[in-house]
Amino acid sequence: MTGLAIGLAIVAALLAFGLARERREFRKLRRWASQSRLAEAPEGKGHWGEVFELLNRHRRATLKRRRQLAQLMVRSRRGAQALPYGVAVLDAQYRLDWSNEAARDQLGLDPERDRGQPIGNFVREPEFVEYLRAGDFSHPVQLQASGRQARILSLQVVDFGAEEHLLLSQDVTGAARLEAMRRDFVANVSHELRTPLTVLAGFLETIRDLKLDASRVRDYVALMAPQAERMKRLIEDLLTLSAIEHAPAPPPAERVALKRLLERVRAEAQALSAGRHRISLEVAGAHDLVGAESEIASAFVNLASNAVRYTPAGGEIRLRWRSDGEGEFSVEDTGIGIDAEHLPRLTERFYRVDRSRSRETGGTGLGLSIVKHALARHQASLAIESVPGKGSRFAARFPASRLVAAAQKVAG
Ligand code: ADP
Repeated sequence: MTGLAIGLAIVAALLAFGLARERREFRKLRRWASQSRLAEAPEGKGHWGEVFELLNRHRRATLKRRRQLAQLMVRSRRGAQALPYGVAVLDAQYRLDWSNEAARDQLGLDPERDRGQPIGNFVREPEFVEYLRAGDFSHPVQLQASGRQARILSLQVVDFGAEEHLLLSQDVTGAARLEAMRRDFVANVSHELRTPLTVLAGFLETIRDLKLDASRVRDYVALMAPQAERMKRLIEDLLTLSAIEHAPAPPPAERVALKRLLERVRAEAQALSAGRHRISLEVAGAHDLVGAESEIASAFVNLASNAVRYTPAGGEIRLRWRSDGEGEFSVEDTGIGIDAEHLPRLTERFYRVDRSRSRETGGTGLGLSIVKHALARHQASLAIESVPGKGSRFAARFPASRLVAAAQKVAG
């Protein structure tokens, strides 16, 4: 009996001990689970050790996943920041949730201050308001931004997730300007060609419809010839310009014998002047140029022919070459001169101070564009000085890297 009692007492003690441990371990678990940030689970006794180890493994996996997710989020935000586009995340009601740096710059959005505000509060241009209202986002919308800088922006809404939207913005000012230049150029060329063509067509009709004697027909043909000549010159200049303007390769590095070239420039200027001007040539410096002879010749001849064309009869034209550290070809005339306001635009295609004078003297309006591009391809610059009514000086300056010692000593 005593043995049984002792046995029962031992069992009861063991049970009590076991129960106490269970309660202790359970309290440990409850304390651990009730923390806001889960720390490593405590060591457990007996089968609790296994439970705690499982919980720890689970916790570590969750932490790892969370860290990966956070990293992914940081990377995607960084990626969105680095995009050359403005990016704004909008909710279903087009309210701002997040935006990147470019969107701040282009649309004036502040990701903190403006969060939760409708995007229409910031992009108020009517084209965009209508774009949002219509809800057809298959194409972007272009608008002139009303900020400090006159910018042209292309905006597009892209739907994603559950009724969320991305607003992408891109600064297309440069492309839009190029497109406008292209349109202007095509319009200018068409206009320049249409004028002589209309005159030619008129003469042809007259010759066809009227019964003219041979000498009258000859008179008409004589009047037609300059028009055809003008069209030919324009097309030649256009071809020259397009050849050097879009040439991707650097110009061939030939040695350009300067003395011969300058003599040729003077001869062409004299032929154009037909004795109406005094034309001189001075050469100082024993260098030749390295580059494409045809392009350099085209630039020099254009400058000399302008001097002849914009200098009244009796005037003087000086062609000069000098080379020491750098090389300079200059053309000085005592011609009509140019008002300062026109100087920055002279090398634009078809820009003329006086349209009718340019035409009368056979100008195409492309000469100085050709000069500019031909020089730029040789790292040379064009400097223009002019006094209205007194004359002008155009100077093409070449860097030392474009000079080589002349094959023969050039006489001044
Ligand atoms: P154009 O064929 O009309 O001469 P250019 O491109 O060669 O075209 O020159 C542009 C304009 O610059 C001319 O129309 C003219 O008004 C002005 N210009 C060029 N060279 C001279 C000059 N030496 N003297 C006065 N005006 C000039």
